[in-house]
Amino acid sequence: MAKELNQSQLPGLLGKLGKMTSIRDTELLEQSLLRSLGPLLGILNTSLYRTDEKQVLARVLHYHRSKVVESDGEARMVERVEEVLNLAELPKEVIALTENVRLLAKPCTRTLGNEVLVAYPLFGGNEVCGYFVFQRDREVSPVEDATIRGVLEVFSNYYALLDISLRDRLTGLFNRQALENSFDRIWSLLGQPDSFTEKLEGRRSIPGGQYYLALIDIDHFKQVNDTHGHMVGDEILLLVSRLMSATFRGSDLLYRYGGEEFVAIAAAENEKIARNIFERLRLAIEAHSFPRIGGLTISIGYCRADPNILPQEVLSRADRSLYRAKQDGRNRIYDHQELLAAGIFTETVYSEAEFF
Ligand code: GH3
Ligand code: MG
Ligand code: MG
Repeated sequence: MAKELNQSQLPGLLGKLGKMTSIRDTELLEQSLLRSLGPLLGILNTSLYRTDEKQVLARVLHYHRSKVVESDGEARMVERVEEVLNLAELPKEVIALTENVRLLAKPCTRTLGNEVLVAYPLFGGNEVCGYFVFQRDREVSPVEDATIRGVLEVFSNYYALLDISLRDRLTGLFNRQALENSFDRIWSLLGQPDSFTEKLEGRRSIPGGQYYLALIDIDHFKQVNDTHGHMVGDEILLLVSRLMSATFRGSDLLYRYGGEEFVAIAAAENEKIARNIFERLRLAIEAHSFPRIGGLTISIGYCRADPNILPQEVLSRADRSLYRAKQDGRNRIYDHQELLAAGIFTETVYSEAEFF
């Protein structure tokens, strides 16, 4: 049986906090929280329940540790992180317990046979935005309680800072830094299409789907600023971002990449559907009546997000397609693949050696 936390665990705890706050990706940070608290409490399973803006349970991250004896006879601890989105299957006791934690805004415990189920609130501002949940064979001691509260507070504060630093102030979309930080993780998930958006955003994706990366640029935006001023320009940027969010699915990823440039990574079953998605956005912007300026258009260059091609290269292909759309008169959408097929672009063959 695991012992209570003691002083000898302090360096380990500080080390874990150090590791946690070195992470620059919000989902990895959540995993790190579970990875830190499980061993401290001497338990093999920990869970993080996240709620949406209405404080309804939205997704769960489960962390399991187990001892596996390998072929060489050595026993090793193996870790597994699993994200569950089908909240219909949540245990009733957990739902009831977290509901009490939400109402009281403090930890709650419930006895289950010989064990106790414990839930701690996770705060985002003054609101409860999630729960740290675990089950074990004994009550939480005062020292453990103080440790859990402290670690959760460090986590929440750091999560909020990270989230702010990864979001664009004006539109609330993710910023360029967020895209660059998570490019590698997004690309590694592209290879497992069914789980891509689930893992990234906690939502369902299209089975067997593909992903497309689009660079979206407002046409003649400098003129908007020059004619109507920066404040009106800012308002237009905000409206364009809202129209984008309304056009794409909740599980697609949207970024404000630069001034009047946006990146979308969208799931689509095939080329035709991808084109329709981007065309829908172009039409929505073209049809919208913006305050003061009236009409506005955008140009888009996009490329299939092939997991075998480096993300920076996919982005560069979308950028070259966008540049071509601008050259050809704007308010249009170019697919890199189509430009290749039409002989406008020539294929560049990359060898692995050039990348590494
Ligand atoms: P093009 O059709 O070729 O894209 O022309 P453009 O005028 O949109 O492109 P250009 O790159 O020449 O100008 C982009 C302008 O976007 C310049 C800058 O004043 C404006 N801009 C960039 N960021 C912001 C911002 O945060 N707020 C406002 N209001 N304007 C911005
Ligand atoms: Mg522009
Ligand atoms: Mg631009």
